[in-house]
Amino acid sequence: MVHADTVRRPGKVFADMVITNIGQLLTMNPGKGPKRGAEARDLGIIENAFLAASQGKVAACGPQAAFSETVELVAGATVIDAGGKVVAPGFIDCHTHVVFAGWRGEEYGMRSRGASYLEIAAKGGGIMSTVRATRAASREELIERTLGFLDEMLSLGTTSCEGKSGYGLNLETEIKQLEVIRECSRLHPVDIVPTFMGAHAFPPEFKHDRKGYIDEVIRMLEPVSRLKLARFADVFCDVGNFTVEESRLILEEARKHGFELKLHADELENTGATELACELGAVSCDHLIKVSQRGIEMLAESDTITVLLPATSCFLGEFPGAPGRRLIDSGAAVAIATDFNPGTCTAMSMPLVMTLACSVLGFSPEEAFVAATWNAGWAAGLGGIAGGFAQGLAMDAVIFDTQDYLDVPYRFGTNLVHTVIKAGKPVRSKNNK
Ligand SMILES: [Zn+2]
Repeated sequence: MVHADTVRRPGKVFADMVITNIGQLLTMNPGKGPKRGAEARDLGIIENAFLAASQGKVAACGPQAAFSETVELVAGATVIDAGGKVVAPGFIDCHTHVVFAGWRGEEYGMRSRGASYLEIAAKGGGIMSTVRATRAASREELIERTLGFLDEMLSLGTTSCEGKSGYGLNLETEIKQLEVIRECSRLHPVDIVPTFMGAHAFPPEFKHDRKGYIDEVIRMLEPVSRLKLARFADVFCDVGNFTVEESRLILEEARKHGFELKLHADELENTGATELACELGAVSCDHLIKVSQRGIEMLAESDTITVLLPATSCFLGEFPGAPGRRLIDSGAAVAIATDFNPGTCTAMSMPLVMTLACSVLGFSPEEAFVAATWNAGWAAGLGGIAGGFAQGLAMDAVIFDTQDYLDVPYRFGTNLVHTVIKAGKPVRSKNNK
């Protein structure tokens, strides 16, 4: 209710959407860049708070007691009473392979019964089975599936994600995947930041011609760039995939075409990929299970975001996974993501990833929250745009059905998401899906 005596009060902000009576508002205390060290444990909590937005962006936040003197609601404004619940920025899933056809449950069964990687590959499993299925799928089929995945992400509190191509491994299908990303991002509340990953694997046609496929990937950069289909270029730099020198060649060409860089680094073996990512000034360097001490030091000194994917290592039964605690303690800026894909991580849940970051990688719950929101934004190209609450940032918010933020990682396997707000609009609610 707006009182007449406050209508023309100077300094008030207009709002078309507010959340009131928030028990704990996790602002992430947004600063100028990604957070490290003690800052990366600071959730910027305001207790008994309000959060107000205008035209999809945060207009103000603060103690509930200051609400009426701070905010003026415009006619028709949406008001949500949080009833003492926790409100946090929507999760940013900064590493996914969200566009693909088929599943690989059979392969999971074989692996769980003890089959080796080579036995699985010999039976036609592995990444090439997803490549075959994705090449065969129509654009419409891929759009429908991807929209379904985005629905599930949204129900788990994710409001933005990064999404890679890389299941085409030829120009036609790579472009099809990236067009599906663009179309789904347009149609769905969850927006997708696109990454071209033609260098995800060597396709069967080039099995005996590595140089030929690297030339092919470099040729693909021009049309992908011209059609503005991707912001990032990424390479799977690891044993059995692209070498450090091959990755360098591709990424340097990508940069000439205007792509920002990402790298799948040091997942299977240490190859020096992390050092390459830092040297090239990549936006992010992802996986890092086998990262060297030198790589950790370089990450600590660089602006490259360390992206850890604990759901992948846990799903593959590889413990303990990346040296999360050492990376944080060294001063690296760390984000976490799902790595959602049909082979090595079928989970789309950022709260699950937070639990694994805490229980397996040695994060504190506060570090996991920052890594899943504010720092993830910097890895996904949304740095300073989303992932925290301060004036001008995206009004992408999650209301959790709890009074204590610790419950989000602690209540492992339970979806505590109550309401999701994207760009100032409630888009998902437990009571009204
Ligand atoms: Zn990946």
